[in-house]
Amino acid sequence: MRNDCPICGAAHPTPIDHRTHTPVLMNRLYPSRDAARSATRGTLDIVACPTCGFAWNRAFEPNLVVYDGDYENDQTHSAAFLAHVMARADDVVASVPVGDQIDYLEIGCGQGGFIGEVARKAAGRLRSAEGFDPAWRGRDATGPDGSRIHKVYFTADNQNRLIHTPNAVASRHTIEHVPDPVAFLSAIRAALGPDSRAKIFIETPCIAWILTHEAMQDLFYEHCSVFTADALRYAMEKSGFGSVTVHHVFGGQYLWATGIAGATFIPPRLPSSRLDQLGKAGPRFTEKWSTAVRAARYSGTVAIWGAGAKGVTFTLLTDPEAQIFDCAIDINPGKQGLHLAGSGLQVLSPRAAAERNLKTIFVMNPNYLDEIWRLTSDHSIDATLVPIN
Ligand SMILES: [Zn+2]
Repeated sequence: MRNDCPICGAAHPTPIDHRTHTPVLMNRLYPSRDAARSATRGTLDIVACPTCGFAWNRAFEPNLVVYDGDYENDQTHSAAFLAHVMARADDVVASVPVGDQIDYLEIGCGQGGFIGEVARKAAGRLRSAEGFDPAWRGRDATGPDGSRIHKVYFTADNQNRLIHTPNAVASRHTIEHVPDPVAFLSAIRAALGPDSRAKIFIETPCIAWILTHEAMQDLFYEHCSVFTADALRYAMEKSGFGSVTVHHVFGGQYLWATGIAGATFIPPRLPSSRLDQLGKAGPRFTEKWSTAVRAARYSGTVAIWGAGAKGVTFTLLTDPEAQIFDCAIDINPGKQGLHLAGSGLQVLSPRAAAERNLKTIFVMNPNYLDEIWRLTSDHSIDATLVPIN
């Protein structure tokens, strides 16, 4: 239970969302309905800092969350997501001055999709690409396109695995899983060494977008730390990165921050975000969408599209026993046939879902609506698509 803001130290956080008995791993799928329903659970107690807007789960228990090779969160089967990933890889490569060799380090690299993209784009300029992730399924110190992925967390003890000092560093969709983000960033800064001028890139969900859009399906156990742009900038400055800028990307859902190690130290500016009136968003979301889901049942068979964290959470909030939803549809073959944590809802491919006579499909992420519309059309699924945000 942490009541002072882990980023700026302000007291008296605002309660945002509270759920007990919620599965702790959203991106782990299960071979049977019973196994999915017996998933490890914990308490989500999201609060937001009145000063910097940072939101955290003050009931988070790190030892409940274990990331290993069963963790499946590949979203690059979607063309919309892939285009986003390519643009971020371009940013990383462009951050190293033309003519210089690139030594790239990625922290939390998953199954190497992004590190491979950076390696391919850097091409002849790439000298090294090293990734760290305990969930890596390949052989230790191997990776796509000449990269090396280490099946461990990036810590002071493991930094000696780096052959070259990195000049470009990225960590995408990792810091939100870390209960002490300033310690995480400070450790990266220390590992780069006192003379480093490396560029760092951090990508993470934006709490202001989530709350403005009342996208409560985006708040879940694994994400114990969710930033505003101000809070992320402040955390990076506090950790020894300078010249920090923070952009919104992917339709505003994600923050994409850059900073430079060793940039002239400026005393961190205390931010002043205000997240008022947000405590009511959680109950309002659950009531609104539970009603919509129950109403949809009268038109025929109901499903959700998206078996990631958003889909798992939306199901838990609106139909926790999966009595209404027939299935979850996902284009990632690694998820198809398996079951969602908590509810036990089964995941089907679009082709298999075409045989369920679906009438309503709730779409978890509006960014994929065009793509989903094309897929339902290709598979002759004649259902109404309802985007959540
Ligand atoms: Zn704060």
